[in-house]
Amino acid sequence: MSRLTKALPLLLSPLLCLPALAADGHDHHGNHPAHVHGVGKLDVALEGNTLTLHLDSPLINLVGFEHAATSTRDKDTVEAAARMLRDVTRIFVTDAAAQCKPAEVQLESAVLPPALLGEKAVTTPEAAPNDGHADLDGDFTLVCASAGALNTVDVAGLFRAFPGFQRIDVQLATPKKQAAFQLAPGNSAIPIN
Ligand SMILES: [Zn+2]
Repeated sequence: MSRLTKALPLLLSPLLCLPALAADGHDHHGNHPAHVHGVGKLDVALEGNTLTLHLDSPLINLVGFEHAATSTRDKDTVEAAARMLRDVTRIFVTDAAAQCKPAEVQLESAVLPPALLGEKAVTTPEAAPNDGHADLDGDFTLVCASAGALNTVDVAGLFRAFPGFQRIDVQLATPKKQAAFQLAPGNSAIPIN
């Protein structure tokens, strides 16, 4: 018994120590990607004049729940969240000199009908996870007329619009560099150069 007690702290990874996850008491198995409430993942890539951002977030960060939107209130919440996300230049602020303009937005969640997310084309969502935890995936494409002038992408608007985010883990890839950043409210700028 004493042996087990000593070994226990070694088994607790930093992820498992996050309060939100501890409160949930759920684990991550199968092919459902790791999902920690309050934490989002953002892949940022710049290639030529095209800036692409892929947001992968627990749905709860954005709408406060992870079940199918059945009530009118749930549906209104989802529609409002989708509208905010589609206001791309407010969510992802780029240098004015770079002249970035939103070109495409795609939002998807396994538990939500595409139309509720403002999708016009019918997509086939991946099978809903059966552990009661759902994600939202957002793909945002911007075209920057003067991409060379792009110094930072600031996601302060995302933290402001969705207080459910406590942290966003960023992976950046440009022709010049690859880097990882941890963003939080008040520390929301991604240095591109
Ligand atoms: Zn969850």
